[in-house]
Amino acid sequence: MSNLSDYQIQAIEDGYRFECPCGELLNSIAAAVRCKKCRTYAPLMRGQFVVDIAKDKVVFGSILSREEYNERVALHDIAIALSLGVFKPMPITSAP
Ligand SMILES: [Zn+2]
Repeated sequence: MSNLSDYQIQAIEDGYRFECPCGELLNSIAAAVRCKKCRTYAPLMRGQFVVDIAKDKVVFGSILSREEYNERVALHDIAIALSLGVFKPMPITSAP
Protein backbone atom coordinates (compact mmCIF):
# COMPACT_ATOMS: atom_id res chain seq x y z
CA MET A 1 0.00 0.00 0.00
CA SER A 2 3.02 2.28 -0.20
CA ASN A 3 1.80 3.92 -3.44
CA LEU A 4 -1.46 5.02 -1.87
CA SER A 5 -2.14 8.51 -0.58
CA ASP A 6 -3.21 9.14 3.00
CA TYR A 7 -6.69 9.85 1.63
CA GLN A 8 -6.83 6.46 -0.13
CA ILE A 9 -5.54 4.60 2.94
CA GLN A 10 -8.21 6.25 5.08
CA ALA A 11 -10.89 5.44 2.46
CA ILE A 12 -9.87 1.77 2.50
CA GLU A 13 -10.06 1.70 6.30
CA ASP A 14 -13.53 3.23 6.04
CA GLY A 15 -14.61 0.57 3.54
CA TYR A 16 -14.40 2.66 0.36
CA ARG A 17 -11.88 0.76 -1.73
CA PHE A 18 -13.58 0.47 -5.13
CA GLU A 19 -12.58 3.14 -7.63
CA CYS A 20 -14.73 3.94 -10.67
CA PRO A 21 -13.47 5.56 -13.90
CA CYS A 22 -13.97 9.12 -12.57
CA GLY A 23 -11.85 8.39 -9.50
CA GLU A 24 -14.59 8.27 -6.88
CA LEU A 25 -14.08 5.70 -4.11
CA LEU A 26 -17.14 3.63 -3.27
CA ASN A 27 -18.01 0.82 -0.86
CA SER A 28 -19.00 -1.85 -3.40
CA ILE A 29 -18.26 -2.90 -6.97
CA ALA A 30 -21.93 -2.42 -7.85
CA ALA A 31 -21.89 1.16 -6.54
CA ALA A 32 -18.72 1.91 -8.52
CA VAL A 33 -20.25 0.51 -11.72
CA ARG A 34 -23.24 2.81 -11.30
CA CYS A 35 -21.32 5.89 -10.08
CA LYS A 36 -23.41 9.00 -10.75
CA LYS A 37 -20.40 11.32 -10.87
CA CYS A 38 -19.05 9.35 -13.85
CA ARG A 39 -21.96 10.72 -15.89
CA THR A 40 -20.32 14.12 -15.61
CA TYR A 41 -16.62 13.40 -15.13
CA ALA A 42 -16.07 10.23 -17.18
CA PRO A 43 -19.11 9.83 -19.46
CA LEU A 44 -17.28 7.72 -22.02
CA MET A 45 -15.96 5.31 -19.40
CA ARG A 46 -18.97 4.99 -17.06
CA GLY A 47 -19.44 1.39 -15.91
CA GLN A 48 -16.40 0.29 -17.92
CA PHE A 49 -14.20 -0.84 -15.05
CA VAL A 50 -13.73 -0.87 -11.27
CA VAL A 51 -10.37 -1.00 -9.51
CA ASP A 52 -9.91 -2.35 -5.99
CA ILE A 53 -7.29 0.13 -4.78
CA ALA A 54 -6.43 -2.05 -1.77
CA LYS A 55 -5.23 -4.75 -4.18
CA ASP A 56 -4.34 -2.46 -7.10
CA LYS A 57 -6.40 -4.78 -9.29
CA VAL A 58 -9.22 -4.42 -11.83
CA VAL A 59 -12.16 -6.28 -10.26
CA PHE A 60 -14.84 -5.48 -12.86
CA GLY A 61 -14.69 -4.93 -16.62
CA SER A 62 -11.48 -3.83 -18.25
CA ILE A 63 -9.53 -0.64 -18.80
CA LEU A 64 -9.70 0.49 -22.41
CA SER A 65 -6.57 0.55 -24.52
CA ARG A 66 -5.50 3.92 -25.93
CA GLU A 67 -6.86 2.87 -29.35
CA GLU A 68 -10.21 1.78 -27.91
CA TYR A 69 -10.50 5.04 -26.00
CA ASN A 70 -9.64 7.16 -29.06
CA GLU A 71 -12.22 5.25 -31.11
CA ARG A 72 -14.84 5.88 -28.44
CA VAL A 73 -13.99 9.60 -28.36
CA ALA A 74 -14.25 9.82 -32.16
CA LEU A 75 -17.66 8.11 -32.18
CA HIS A 76 -18.81 10.42 -29.38
CA ASP A 77 -17.65 13.48 -31.36
CA ILE A 78 -19.61 12.28 -34.41
CA ALA A 79 -22.72 11.69 -32.28
CA ILE A 80 -22.44 15.21 -30.82
CA ALA A 81 -21.93 16.72 -34.27
CA LEU A 82 -25.00 14.86 -35.59
CA SER A 83 -27.10 15.98 -32.62
CA LEU A 84 -26.06 19.60 -33.18
CA GLY A 85 -26.90 19.41 -36.87
CA VAL A 86 -23.32 20.09 -37.92
CA PHE A 87 -23.69 17.64 -40.77
CA LYS A 88 -26.40 18.61 -43.29
CA PRO A 89 -27.83 16.30 -45.91
CA MET A 90 -26.19 16.84 -49.28
CA PRO A 91 -28.56 18.63 -51.65
CA ILE A 92 -29.48 16.56 -54.66
CA THR A 93 -28.54 18.47 -57.75
CA SER A 94 -28.98 17.50 -61.33
CA ALA A 95 -25.95 17.31 -63.53
CA PRO A 96 -25.39 20.44 -65.64
ZN1 LIG B 1 -17.32 7.73 -11.06
